[in-house]
Amino acid sequence: MNFDARPGAHIARRRFGQNFLIATGIIERIIASIQPRPGENVVEIGPGLGALTRPLIEQTGHLHVIEIDRDLIARLRERYAPECLTIHEGDALKFDFAALCKEENASLRVVGNLPYNISTPLLFHLAGFASRLRDGHFMLQKEVVARMVAAAGTSEYGRLSVMLQYRFHMERLFDVPPGAFHPAPKVTSSIVRMTPLPAGTYEARDETRFSRIVAAAFSQRRKTLRNTLRDFLDESALKALGFDPGLRGERLSVADFVTIANAG
Ligand code: SAM
Repeated sequence: MNFDARPGAHIARRRFGQNFLIATGIIERIIASIQPRPGENVVEIGPGLGALTRPLIEQTGHLHVIEIDRDLIARLRERYAPECLTIHEGDALKFDFAALCKEENASLRVVGNLPYNISTPLLFHLAGFASRLRDGHFMLQKEVVARMVAAAGTSEYGRLSVMLQYRFHMERLFDVPPGAFHPAPKVTSSIVRMTPLPAGTYEARDETRFSRIVAAAFSQRRKTLRNTLRDFLDESALKALGFDPGLRGERLSVADFVTIANAG
C-alpha cells in the first residue's frame, strides 16, 4: 500500500470524487505509461494523497498540482518542499492551463486520476488548451473512456468522441479494477492517453458552429441528419456535400462534421 494513502489518515470526500489509488503495481504501470523525464513541464490534476505525485516528483524533479480540498493541500505542503511542488489551490475546471506554458512552445504534460463527477466538463475545458499541451494521461470511468476513443458507427460514438478526436489522438491504455482504490468505486476505470493532433489536421472555420452542429447531430440519437441539422443545412445542401440526409449522426466521421460545419 502506498504510504500516503494509509487508511484512517484522511476521510475521503465523496463530493470531490475522492477514490485514492493504493495498488502499487497500478501506480507503477501508470507512471511507466507516462514516462516522465527530468525537467519536463508536468501538472497533476487532483493529487489527493500523492499516489502519483510522489513518483512524478521523483522522476521530473518538479511538479505543478491543482487541488481543491484544503485538508489535502495542507498535507501536500507538509510533505513536499516548494522547490519540488508548486500547489495551485482551487478548481481545475477554472484553471488557466496556458499560464503554465511560460514560453510560446513550452508544451505541458497533464496527468490526473480525475474526479469522476467533473470528468467530462474537465476534458472539454482542457481541449481548449490543446495547442499548448504535449499530452494528457487520465484515469476515468471505463465507460467514459470507451466514449472518448469510440469510432464512428459504434454505439459509444457521440459528442464527446467527436469533440475530443477533433483535437487529440486518443489511446485507451489499460483497465484498473475497483480494488486498486480506497475507497473502492463501484465501476472499473481505464487509463487513456490524449495527444494533440498536428495543427491543421482538422480545421473548422467557426469552431462554435462546429460544436453546435456536433451537439445537434447527437441530441436525439434516433433522428436523422435531415431533422437534427435542419437549423444549419437543408436537405439539398447535405446531398450536395455527398451526405445521405437519412443517416444518423453516429455515421459521420470527425472530418465529415468539419465538412458540414465549413459548408455553412
Ligand atoms: N491522484 C490521487 C490518487 O490517484 O489517489 C487522487 C485522485 S481522486 C479520484 C481525485 C482528486 O481530485 C482528489 O484529490 C480531489 O480532492 C481532487 N478534486 C476534486 N475536484 C476537483 C476540482 N474541481 N479541482 C481540482 N481538484 C479536484
